[in-house]
Amino acid sequence: MKKPAEEKILEDHISAKSLKKSSQRKVVLRMFLQHGKHLTADELYRIVQKKFPRIGYATIYRTLRLFCECGLSRELKLIDGITRFEPQHGYQHHDHLVCTCCGRLVEVVDPEIERLQEKLVREHGFYPESHRMELYGICRKCRK
Ligand SMILES: [Zn+2]
Ligand SMILES: [Zn+2]
Repeated sequence: MKKPAEEKILEDHISAKSLKKSSQRKVVLRMFLQHGKHLTADELYRIVQKKFPRIGYATIYRTLRLFCECGLSRELKLIDGITRFEPQHGYQHHDHLVCTCCGRLVEVVDPEIERLQEKLVREHGFYPESHRMELYGICRKCRK
């Protein structure tokens, strides 16, 4: 069976950092990709625990850091101060609408806004690299 690209990226990163290979990291990666829409380390820990009770929180946390280092994941720091992680590899850029009532995250992308952001950056003599945009509000469900 062919290895998924994500596994390869992780393996390369692990050998580049001369870390020991571990099967636990692979498990964490698989579970993260399956469930990883804006998960906190704690949420992922609880998901993994159900199937792999021997994997500790510290391993989950460290592994998520590794994912971020090699571009498999990105960190999402919202105004609630909680860090969430989301898969990055193979995903298109998107921004988020955040419900301040229930915490729901909606992924959005608007070509017009993207373009304007780039224009703004360039007008200030910057070369655009990346951005994050979060818009806070109350979602449809919570407004009812
Ligand atoms: Zn809501
Ligand atoms: Zn997202």
